[in-house]
Amino acid sequence: MSDTPSSRKRTEIDVSRILFEHYAGTEAPCVVVFCGIHGNEKAGIKAVQRMMPFLKKGMLKGSLYVLTGNIPALINDQRFIDMDLNRVWSRNMTSLNAAKQKRISENRDRKEILGIISDIRKQVLGPLYFIDVHTTSAASIPFITIDDALINRRFTKVFPVPVVLGIEEYLHGALLSFINQMGFVSLGFEAGRHDDEQAVCNAESFLYLVLDVAKIAVLEERTLALHKERLQRLTLGRRHFYEVIYRYGIQEGEQFTMRPGFRNFQPVKKGRELAESNGKVIRAGKDRVIFMPLYQQQGEDGFFFVRRIPSWVLGLSALFRLLRLDAVLAWLPGVSWIDGEKQGLRVDLKTASFMAKSVFHFLGYREVVEDEDHLLVYNRERIARKERYPLRYSRP
Ligand SMILES: [Zn+2]
Repeated sequence: MSDTPSSRKRTEIDVSRILFEHYAGTEAPCVVVFCGIHGNEKAGIKAVQRMMPFLKKGMLKGSLYVLTGNIPALINDQRFIDMDLNRVWSRNMTSLNAAKQKRISENRDRKEILGIISDIRKQVLGPLYFIDVHTTSAASIPFITIDDALINRRFTKVFPVPVVLGIEEYLHGALLSFINQMGFVSLGFEAGRHDDEQAVCNAESFLYLVLDVAKIAVLEERTLALHKERLQRLTLGRRHFYEVIYRYGIQEGEQFTMRPGFRNFQPVKKGRELAESNGKVIRAGKDRVIFMPLYQQQGEDGFFFVRRIPSWVLGLSALFRLLRLDAVLAWLPGVSWIDGEKQGLRVDLKTASFMAKSVFHFLGYREVVEDEDHLLVYNRERIARKERYPLRYSRP
């Protein structure tokens, strides 16, 4: 079937830029929720619409803003119009000339969202949390994605869903990475498969738990238990931290088809047929865990592999980061700080070829940019506004 906008049914959901806003004062905690950054992913909007009677009761103790993402794409029920709105937040986009920017539909959404974020930042001095709700084209249990910073790990570990970190190394220009670079807690919540009713329920439950953990609203014990159980039932045995270790990127003009039936977090054996590219079969080179297999027309990520991170590695890497042991790296031959703010390291591959990527990951350096002779690695810890956030969150 053709995938043109006209062949799809137009949406009947609310696509105002601001779906809900409540301001509780400068010092109060604040949650900002994005829904529909991808226009074919409406679970977040539907979930918030269901929550509206509760939100409008006037019982919120903290601030809450719910924003829509790609409005023209939401209306047309497609992922994006000209450019993926979750890939336009890098510096390269702002460097496009004005005429070129104007021709890109998503640029308008980007500018409006940017303006609102900047207003919120001026009004809020308390802890600020950004939540970006998505769905996937494959069947999936609900999960969280984060950039690997300790403030993100601390906040997300109390929720009863798996947490996947390190995706920022593979996706450039994502909204959450952009916000993370400002030093704020930001997470993506993948609620389930695009048109699955369960995804709406999952998004609703997760957002209620967020309101509780971030101290935006006090929920009744019974309500809290219901939402917690709803997620727990689906994620049993998968409530761990994972890291992305591989991305299959689809090239322009490539004919890519995923083999049917793969689910998120599904283990696959070495040699298993995964997809077909220009008539050639792609197989798993080792035993792997598959993540976000692509089952839709638009999108450049064919599939990913993830790997579970043992809890001792998580604990030890947190300790090393708190002690700022990464400073030692800069003493090594061929390694130096990129700038005075120490947000990143430049590694000369001729003199420091012994340095493995995993060492940098361990110390909080993700988003590795390589050229022939150098590796540029960026850190999220030194820019995190740690003083704004609690050291511990109570479980919902
Ligand atoms: Zn999405």
